[in-house]
Amino acid sequence: MKIFDLHADIACALQPYAGEKAILKNHWQSRLAQGEIGVTSAASFFSGSQSWQQMQQTVQAVKKDIEESGYRPILTKEELPEDPSEPQYLMTIEGMCGIHEDPEEKISWLYAMGNRIGSLCWNDQNDLATGNSGSPGRGLTELGRRAVRKMNELHMIVDVSHANEKTFWDLLDESSLPLIATHSNAKALCFVERNLTDQQIRALAEKGGLIGMNACAKFIDADPEKQDGLHLAEHARYIADLAGIEHVACGFDFSAYYTEASHDMSGPEKAQNFIEGLRRCGFSEDEIKDIAYRNVLRFLQKYM
Ligand SMILES: [Zn+2]
Repeated sequence: MKIFDLHADIACALQPYAGEKAILKNHWQSRLAQGEIGVTSAASFFSGSQSWQQMQQTVQAVKKDIEESGYRPILTKEELPEDPSEPQYLMTIEGMCGIHEDPEEKISWLYAMGNRIGSLCWNDQNDLATGNSGSPGRGLTELGRRAVRKMNELHMIVDVSHANEKTFWDLLDESSLPLIATHSNAKALCFVERNLTDQQIRALAEKGGLIGMNACAKFIDADPEKQDGLHLAEHARYIADLAGIEHVACGFDFSAYYTEASHDMSGPEKAQNFIEGLRRCGFSEDEIKDIAYRNVLRFLQKYM
């Protein structure tokens, strides 16, 4: 089953091979092909005190490697595939800690470079928003509201994964377009800060949003025996039953991109373990296609 993965730390995946060309093609493509992942959302990740210059360098490095590898980032609706059978990349931003002023100008630059989804913060708090380890009473800032308005204007989709609850509700209120949680699961099945409450899941769905299922072991289940594709599929089952299957997608955040890991869903080559889990959770082949890629493609066709 072909897959559209909404979150992959591609900037981190390039780092061990720094200095080489076409890293995605030479080091990752065979693993992506083994997992039948067609489109990968290539995230540039930022946190802490990383500067705007560092953000620019990383985004440029990601774009450069996508192109050197012989691919082209998806920039328009017209470039979205009907089914993700060829390797393609959609550039995204995770955390915008380097933006301290002129958010409109900087968002425009990120967009011009090819980024089509972006989260304002990682777990920490910055000048735009507050992540889930930031101050619970602090949400979206005035600068952050300006960033959201610019993203809406450009049709760059706002990602709420990593936002704390206050930021989440502020974003829901501020954004005129639906939101994506690119890589978050259900708190009801695994109670960690990074997962979503039932209320958040319903609110995202009511606004037409999407939730990508996160394969990170500790966000699947507290029990190491259950940190696998089947138990991740149970999150999909839970969210589909609660809010509608059309809001469920894949956002695996494979740990292989940034660390050594070996669990059942640790790398792109293991993605089909999730698809097998969906079958065991009673989803039909047609429903699995929706979760694997059709829901994301429909969403991006509408809002990108
Ligand atoms: Zn993340």
